[in-house]
Amino acid sequence: PKYVYDFTEGNKDLKDLLGGKGANLAEMTNLGLPVPPGFTITAEACRHYLRHGGTPDGLEEEIGEHLAVLEARMGKRLGQADDPLLVSVRSGAKFSMPGMMETVLDIGLNDDSVLGLAKQSGNDRFAWDSYRRLIQMFGKTVLGIDGELFEDAMDELKGERYDTDLDAPDLQRVVETFKGIVRERAGRDFPADPREQMDLAVRAVFDSWNAPRAILYRRQERIPADLGTAVNIVAMVFGNMGPDSGTGVAFTRDPGSGRQGVYGDYLRNAQGEDVVAGIRNTVPLQELETINPGAYRELLDIMATLERHYRDLCDIEFTIERGKLWMLQTRVGKRTAAAAFCMATQLVDEGLIDMDEAVTRVTGDQLAQLMFPRFAATAGNRRLTTGMNASPGAAAGRAVFSSERAVELATRGEAVILVRRETNPDDLAGMIAAHGVLTSRGGKTSHAAVVARGMGKTCVCGAEELEVDPHARRFTAPGGVVVDEGDVISIDGGTGAVYLGEVPVTASPVAKYFEGEPAGDELVRAVDRIMRHADSARRLAVRANADTPEDADRARRFGAQGIGLCRTEHMFLGERRRLVEDLILATTPEARQAALDALEPLQTGDFTGIFTAMRGLPVTIRLIDPPLHEFLPDLTDLAVKVALAGDRAGDRPGVRTEDGADERDRRLLDAVKRLHEQNPMLGLRGVRLGLTIPGLFAMQVRAIAAAARRVEGARAEIMMPLVGAVQELEIVRDEAERILAEAGVAAAIGTMIEVPRAALTAGQIAEAAEFFSFGTNDLTQMTWGFSRDDVESAFFGAYLDLGVFGVSPFESIDREGVGRLMRTAVEEGRRTRPGLKLGICGEHGGDPDSVHFCHEIGLDYVSCSPFRIPVARLEAGRAAL
Ligand code: ADP
Ligand code: MG
Ligand code: MG
Repeated sequence: PKYVYDFTEGNKDLKDLLGGKGANLAEMTNLGLPVPPGFTITAEACRHYLRHGGTPDGLEEEIGEHLAVLEARMGKRLGQADDPLLVSVRSGAKFSMPGMMETVLDIGLNDDSVLGLAKQSGNDRFAWDSYRRLIQMFGKTVLGIDGELFEDAMDELKGERYDTDLDAPDLQRVVETFKGIVRERAGRDFPADPREQMDLAVRAVFDSWNAPRAILYRRQERIPADLGTAVNIVAMVFGNMGPDSGTGVAFTRDPGSGRQGVYGDYLRNAQGEDVVAGIRNTVPLQELETINPGAYRELLDIMATLERHYRDLCDIEFTIERGKLWMLQTRVGKRTAAAAFCMATQLVDEGLIDMDEAVTRVTGDQLAQLMFPRFAATAGNRRLTTGMNASPGAAAGRAVFSSERAVELATRGEAVILVRRETNPDDLAGMIAAHGVLTSRGGKTSHAAVVARGMGKTCVCGAEELEVDPHARRFTAPGGVVVDEGDVISIDGGTGAVYLGEVPVTASPVAKYFEGEPAGDELVRAVDRIMRHADSARRLAVRANADTPEDADRARRFGAQGIGLCRTEHMFLGERRRLVEDLILATTPEARQAALDALEPLQTGDFTGIFTAMRGLPVTIRLIDPPLHEFLPDLTDLAVKVALAGDRAGDRPGVRTEDGADERDRRLLDAVKRLHEQNPMLGLRGVRLGLTIPGLFAMQVRAIAAAARRVEGARAEIMMPLVGAVQELEIVRDEAERILAEAGVAAAIGTMIEVPRAALTAGQIAEAAEFFSFGTNDLTQMTWGFSRDDVESAFFGAYLDLGVFGVSPFESIDREGVGRLMRTAVEEGRRTRPGLKLGICGEHGGDPDSVHFCHEIGLDYVSCSPFRIPVARLEAGRAAL
């Protein structure tokens, strides 16, 4: 294969081969922009080098040929003693990895050619400055010497002066010192042979692909580990030739707002990294207009050309050598979420892109960021600690340490932050009541994090420096700061910071827009235009997971086209717990029926509320799913209570004690023991409850039917959880159909697909199901054999570090495993029943990558938490374009 491409041979679409930097240098060259000549060694050569520990056959020669062409064009040879060509050797991978890899400038200088350079340029100082830069960069990058040794030596000589105050003799002395450092630290002399310098630098760039910090960065950014980097050899141009020279960086528009203008920094008499290294103060790019008006105008022209050509914001690196402008790099630049939306529509208005493309230029993650409230300023508040930024947004309120207190204070109209070591399903009410959630344990997929993200609630988790004592109702922060219940704290879900006291919060205008406020400022208008277009483009419908009329109402305002998952289990909590206990304690059919009869009207009321809120949109109701013991008191608590009661009431049996323990508690304790399961998530739950507790599912179906009759236009869909065999489904379906027929109510009956066996036998199951909804939380848990509630704290961190997966399968659908089961179920289900309706209601329904997957496999809808609906709408649109 061809391993080396001249800049005239490449283009911007060859990033796989030439890396981002090389591809764009080629593109600029072919646009006729002033790019110093050069060539690119491909990433393929790097991959070969990394795999085999050596360069591929013929690479040396190919580099030699291209170097000869470059030398001929420049009219001088690399390192030529009387007039040297100098080059830079620059890394450049497909994805930008800022500062992660290596670049060496001024290659080709040695004791002879430095004199030639001085003579040719008539500038001794410049020549020796370049030479000391080469030894410094080469020593650090290629020979692996600690960079601080050079910096310290330089600082010592400089004293209070700037680097530009050093004259030629000073710099000559620096060169001698640097050479000494190389000799001492690398055990060899700095190589004088220019070609050897170049070849060693190329290898060093290849090797830098596997530097620890590069590996870490790739893991964080989910960049594949096997891409390798290309290497660019570029003729040097010099910003360090004096006051009429300099170097700078710029954006074609403001990366913070998207607005057009002049954004950048310039540094006179400097080279390369000096601009960003902060060795001297840069000036705003506008000042170049007075320093060098000609170069300034040319630069603005080039930036306009680049924008028109790339049809996007670009960032650039440039150098001015004695008044002449040179372009050294460009790429489509990073931007804030707000800028991404504004810019996408600006580019449409400027005629550079169409609306289809505008939609693909923004992401659901960016949209989600824009929907969270944020802190106005944090300067006045003490930062207590920083945890993990689990769910964005900003929240301030009184610290509370239990779900009950959270609810209590919230009903009095107080803002509260729920602080826990970790949360569990019992904290749900408290989480709903709180403005934000702070935990000292658990990571980004802990219960607190997942639930908070789903609710769109600010959450900082895993703030390990905090000692949370829920019993004493306080936590202690580093430095011994104690926060008691009622003290005000503020948490920033975007950064993970925790502050003492109240930091002022401002609501997001984008969230207000989704709540129904008219589109106001530029950002909101941009969001509005992009959302409308995404909605018109998408094929997937978007539904909500919502269990209450309030959630249902918000979901509808956010654009939900129905409810994809209405859980019924929370309808058995709170004051109704006692009725559920009655049901479990019942020893006769009459007692059981009495308990069910008491629950039924309450359920009817619940469903009536939701049907009403949804105004005729479909509502998928899942019959009760969790193991029954979740509705009973904790085994230990209850055992203690009963034991204590036994002691005190020993001589007066049957009398209620002060604790309130009585006969009922003793029977409850028996029931808790009886229902105890080693592995409840794989135990008596879902359809298994329906099949073994007579009357339970029937009661729920009757309640649904009654509610549907009450609400004009109600559209109910009844969903059976945890089905693994068509036989299970047939039994509960037959009973449900009988009840619906008696009530004269039409409702579709379908099933969750969340047990692997259900996916594998979907062809059979579809005979009894009118719709499937993929419950990907359980499906992932059972496919991987990962206990969802435990693995995250136990070993997911290690798994992510080891690269077993790049992202938790609970966050993003595991396409190869879980996804394969889904594909199978889609194909076999539709084969049996062509009109089968297919959706997803797991946590993944609001995850961008998973939404794309659902589009690809042909689902009809995704269902996600109300707050994620705009994200799902946008991503469904992007998937279709
Ligand atoms: P990075 O990817 O870290 O930005 P670069 O390869 O872009 O590294 O180079 C580092 C610095 O050196 C940049 O400021 C770049 O503009 C400058 N530079 C690279 N090649 C040359 C060259 N041939 N002439 C002058 N400056 C150069
Ligand atoms: Mg660069
Ligand atoms: Mg489930």
